[in-house]
Amino acid sequence: MGRVQVTGLGEGAGLDMAVAPARSQRVYPLVAHWAPGFDAGQWTDALMRLAERPDDALAIDVHLPYCATHCLYCGCDVTVTHDDAEIDRYLDALQREMALATRHLGTRREVARLHLGGGTPNHLSDAQLRRLMATIRRHFRVLPDSCLSIECDPRRCSEAQFATLRELGFAHVQFGMADLDPTVQRAAGRLQSLALVRDAIAMARRARFDAVQVELVCGLPQQTFTGLDRTLAQLLRLGADRIALWRYEHAPAQRWSQCAIDREALPDAAMRTALWRHAADTITAAGYEWIGCDLFVLEDDELAVARERHELRVNCLGYLTLPTDHVLAFGRGRISDVADTLVASEPSLPRWQGLLAEGRWPLVRGCRRSDAERARRDAIRDLVCELELRSDVAARGLEREYHQLAALAERGWVESLGDRLVVTREGHYHLAGMCRVLGDATGWAGLVQ
Ligand code: SF4
Repeated sequence: MGRVQVTGLGEGAGLDMAVAPARSQRVYPLVAHWAPGFDAGQWTDALMRLAERPDDALAIDVHLPYCATHCLYCGCDVTVTHDDAEIDRYLDALQREMALATRHLGTRREVARLHLGGGTPNHLSDAQLRRLMATIRRHFRVLPDSCLSIECDPRRCSEAQFATLRELGFAHVQFGMADLDPTVQRAAGRLQSLALVRDAIAMARRARFDAVQVELVCGLPQQTFTGLDRTLAQLLRLGADRIALWRYEHAPAQRWSQCAIDREALPDAAMRTALWRHAADTITAAGYEWIGCDLFVLEDDELAVARERHELRVNCLGYLTLPTDHVLAFGRGRISDVADTLVASEPSLPRWQGLLAEGRWPLVRGCRRSDAERARRDAIRDLVCELELRSDVAARGLEREYHQLAALAERGWVESLGDRLVVTREGHYHLAGMCRVLGDATGWAGLVQ
C-alpha cells in the first residue's frame, strides 16, 4: 500500500499515495482549481438533492489512515499506531460523520459500492472491522449484491481475518505489494517475501473472494529491467485477477518518509517510463486486458466484460461496472462527489475529530461543478472507459480539444473514424495526457504520463 500520485485510474491496496493516484486527482475539476468561499450549506443542499433521487446509485468510500509501519516510498498521509484505543476514537468520529450525512440523506439509502481504503484497513482488529461495518449498516442499506472492496496489506492477513471480511460482505480485495525484489524492497523500505504474498492471495482464494488485485510499482529505487522481469514472472504466476501498475514519484518535500530514499538509487525519468512500458507489455502479453491508464484484468473479469458491452464506468474510486456518479466519502482528508458538488474533508486528524465532536461538518473546501465542467468530466470518462471520443463533444464546447486530440493521429495515438476518435495501442500509453487535453489543465492532471 502507499501511493505514487502521478498516474491514472485504478485502485490499490492501502495503495500508496506514493504510487497510486490520490482520490483528489481523480475528480474533476481538481481540488487546486476549486474556487474559495464554499459554504457548508451547499453540501447540505447536495445531500438533500441526492435524497430526492433515490434511484441514483451511491458509492461509499471510508478512509482508514492507520498502518503498522511506514514504508519509505509511501506518499499517503498515514498514522502508524499499535494503540487500539486510537483507532477506536477514529471509529467514533466516523460514526459522527455518518450521522451528520444521513441526517440529510436519510438512513435507508442503498449502497451500490462500498470501499475501505487506507492506510491499511486490515490493520484494524476483527472487532473493529465488525464495529465499523455495523456503523455503516446502521446508516446505510448494504445489500447482498452491493460490491464491497477493501485494501489489504499482505503482511497483516490471516485466515480468520479473511473469514471475517467475507462474513461482513467483502468480495474484492486489493493487495499492496510494490516489488518482490529484495534489493528494491530494502531501498524502498517495505519488506515482504514472495511466499507471504502468495499465502495472502491463497487465503483470499480459500475465503472465496471474487476479485483479487495486486499492486506493482515502477520507478522504485534500485529497480532494474532484470529485477523487474523476475518480479513480473513471480507476479504473473500468482494469478491475480487484476494488476494495478503504479508509478513511483519521488517528492520528499511533501512526503517526509521519502527523504530516507537514496536519490542516486532512483531510475531517471526515461528509465521510469521504460520500466512502466515494459511491465505493461509483459502483463498484457501474459493475457491481461489493459483496462485503463494503469489497471490490467483477466479477460473474463467483470470489468473486461463491461468494457466489451460498453458498460464500463469510472469514478474517483476507479473502474466500476455500475454507473455510481455519487461518491460519499468518510474519514479525514477525503473527497466526496455528490449531485455535482465536491467537498474535501479536513486532512488534519485532530481537527477532523474536533469538528465532528462539535457536531460540525469537517470540510475544508468545496466546489459546485458547472455544466461546462460536467461536459469535460463526461468526455474524460468516455475516453478512459470506451477508449474513444465521439465528435459530438465538439457541440458541447469541446471543439478545440477534439481537434487537438485528432491531431495526435500524426503520432499514431488515435485513429480518426469520421464520427469519433479511437485510441490506438500506442495511444493507450498516453491516455492520461489526452485526458489532460480534455481537462483544460484544470482537472485530471494527476493522469500525467
Ligand atoms: S502499508 Fe506502507 S505503502 Fe501502504 S499505506 Fe501504509 S505506509 Fe503506505
